[in-house]
Amino acid sequence: CGIIGIVGSEAVADRLVDGLKRMEYRGYDSSGICTLHDGQLVRRRAKGKLANLVNVLRESDAPGSIGIAHTRWATHGAPTAENAHPHATEEVAIVHNGIIENFKELRAELAAKGRIFESETDSEVVAHLISDQIEAGADPVAAVKAVLPRLRGAFALAIAFREYPDLLIGARLGSPLVVGYGPEGDDAEMYLGSDALALAPLTQRIAYLEEGDWVVLGHSGAQIFDADNNEVTREIQASGASA
Ligand code: GLU
Repeated sequence: CGIIGIVGSEAVADRLVDGLKRMEYRGYDSSGICTLHDGQLVRRRAKGKLANLVNVLRESDAPGSIGIAHTRWATHGAPTAENAHPHATEEVAIVHNGIIENFKELRAELAAKGRIFESETDSEVVAHLISDQIEAGADPVAAVKAVLPRLRGAFALAIAFREYPDLLIGARLGSPLVVGYGPEGDDAEMYLGSDALALAPLTQRIAYLEEGDWVVLGHSGAQIFDADNNEVTREIQASGASA
């Protein structure tokens, strides 16, 4: 339902939760965040209100200056903490808006390879498909490029990689996703959001991804590709959303 991602220069957990709060109006049944810290994916999730996620984070924080977060409106699988996003393997964490319509086939294929699923969601297949590529030696860009054409349905995705503390990848088809351009220089930051409003306190400089676009986000910029994997330019606009 709501997605935010930050490739940051300082702690991101509180800012991710703030971004989720700004998308509460869309409705949701659970929420979660994943940061990268000391070479590990750090994942925290909770059923119900964002206040519950804040309580989880108070018990065990999510340090790190890069991360992704999600508010979920369940379509496949009950609204539980286990089904809340991010979904993750050892190597990859993802948040997803929309529906992966061919998830049953993909799940059967992955299960036959011995991959273990932890949730009832359609979304979790995306984490496993990408992880499968990474574990076979692909880099994140090659992994995402291989997996996107296999997904049917609608999605906005934000993806984090355990071994890449300076990189998020986003993709959209049928669900909105925007790129936010943050400060430049020593404290350079970049953002992803399903909603320009979620990014308003962070930046007003927004590029709207088009159908089929995917984006590789680093600290100091973004490379955007279209559905044919050609690098493209999407105009940076003033979002006009009030912080
Ligand atoms: N289909 C996914 C799920 O049920 C994502 C739903 C959403 O857009 O929040 O977990």
